Amino acid sequence: MAVKIIWQINHSCGHQAERNLSDRAADRRAGFAEWLAKQECSACWRASKQGDEQDKAAWLEAKRAEEQAESEAWSEQCRMPPLEGTERAIAWGVRCRHKLLAAVYTALVLEGETSEAEWEEIEEAARTITRAGWFIDQRSSEPGDLTELLQAATVADRPSENPHF
Ligand SMILES: [Zn+2]
Repeated sequence: MAVKIIWQINHSCGHQAERNLSDRAADRRAGFAEWLAKQECSACWRASKQGDEQDKAAWLEAKRAEEQAESEAWSEQCRMPPLEGTERAIAWGVRCRHKLLAAVYTALVLEGETSEAEWEEIEEAARTITRAGWFIDQRSSEPGDLTELLQAATVADRPSENPHF
């Protein structure tokens, strides 16, 4: 008598399914059927996986919206100007500016030697930059580098690097 090919599986979710195990060697089918019985049926598995992904996407979106609201409140409180750029860049730039300046404040003022008066100058320099892309570009910079970066960005009439001028 040949080892059966069609196995009735009682899945862990309570559903039953017939599985064709002909692609398994005859002596492996019983073990595989046992393993299958410990799993959810494919419909339940797909449904729960989809649910997880939807949960994750919703969670990420909620988290981003929360960050956005925080960053916008902070910008207003610190009298930071509106940024310029595409809609997406503006939203992202506002979050980057908030994160960047908060990290710098912690590093320089709270944990460093920078006075509040010196900090106000840094804030003032940051207010002169309204290009969203600038803050996005600096998002991974070291807190200690910000003053230098701000200086580079705010130098007026920077001499041209083009030797023909
Ligand atoms: Zn099921």
